[in-house]
Amino acid sequence: MKILVINCGSSSAKYQLFDVKRYKCLARGIVERIGSAHSGLKYEVNGCKMVRGVACRDHDVAIRIIVNILTDPDHGIIRSKDEIGGIGHRVVHGGEEFKVSTRITPKVIRSIEKFSELAPLHNPPALLGIRACSRILRGIEQVAVFDTSFHQTMPPKAFLYGLPFKLYKKYGIRKYGFHGTSHRFVAERAAEVLGKHPGKLKLITCHLGNGCSMAAVKHGKSIDTTMGFTPLEGLLMGTRSGDLDPAVVFFIMEKERVSPERISDILNKESGLLGVSGVSNDMRDIIGASKKQGVSARRSKMALEIFIHRVEKYIGAYQAVMNGLDAVIFTAGIGENSPWLVKRIERDLKNVVPPRVKFLVIPTNEELLIARDTYNIIKTKRSN
Ligand code: ADP
Repeated sequence: MKILVINCGSSSAKYQLFDVKRYKCLARGIVERIGSAHSGLKYEVNGCKMVRGVACRDHDVAIRIIVNILTDPDHGIIRSKDEIGGIGHRVVHGGEEFKVSTRITPKVIRSIEKFSELAPLHNPPALLGIRACSRILRGIEQVAVFDTSFHQTMPPKAFLYGLPFKLYKKYGIRKYGFHGTSHRFVAERAAEVLGKHPGKLKLITCHLGNGCSMAAVKHGKSIDTTMGFTPLEGLLMGTRSGDLDPAVVFFIMEKERVSPERISDILNKESGLLGVSGVSNDMRDIIGASKKQGVSARRSKMALEIFIHRVEKYIGAYQAVMNGLDAVIFTAGIGENSPWLVKRIERDLKNVVPPRVKFLVIPTNEELLIARDTYNIIKTKRSN
């Protein structure tokens, strides 16, 4: 069966078409700059990459463009949209309601809408994608796969903040965690690689990309993670500060006389590797700059050291909360491409982490997991 995976942002729609039985991606691409005068389509099919300009005023048009290219007589991969057996959507926030991937119904759509309050930048574009697919690919089953679901197994002692309890009850203020699809994918792959049942393993998964997070995965379940109520908490990231004394926020607001929106921009878009180094949010640039001389080099080195310090600190913490450790997994752009970083962390922790603990690099594939979940949910419904 062929499954279409859609990941909609506010101005982009990424897609991948999978043959799920063969775990194979048949075609992939992205419609970019939706709503601008310079929208474009990048697509890849049979190893051949192409780029073209398109007119794309909204997400409905984007989905139509994706269907057209998939069924294009010259560059397409399927004859008609009827070959698409199901559609899986990446949805960032599923609140406390969605503990697993879920078939999309009007009720599910209302809930995703409700959680837009918790993920105002991410849930609304996912909904645009879902609604566009219901119109353009009418009758094809859709499934939502949530970034937060995998972490719903965290116990209250891990997800509650030390705030007045009524704020949790009133507004749902708690740690949710994100990147769940990636943490789950690499944790499952690690069990395969190690030849052990996931239920017998204590793993720490490190998703180090533009956004970075770690999870303590005990016996196949996430029991703690570094991102929190929003993706701002935890590790140092490309442009996000990660962990911070909340009092710093009030202090900056008072001293710099800035609004909540401005402080949010400072913490989310101007901090992290970029903020500390003053050079770039991109790890490759930071590594390059840190090898040179001068102020930028020193600050880049400092950004790198903060980055590594936090990862190491959380490895120690998660080993403690799981009362043991079998493997540490590194994934995403930085995790998959920096073997020196993995070696450095392994060496730094040699007196803390027992020598039998494996340090593994496992490429993530969130889209494949979305396709697999979608297939399994549709298959189960059909056989009922
Ligand atoms: P996203 O979170 O947007 O999916 P990625 O997983 O693609 O991001 O990760 C992007 C990060 O990966 C960037 O900081 C980039 O510098 C880093 N990265 C990519 N290739 C390398 C490399 N060869 N060495 C070190 N870092 C890399």
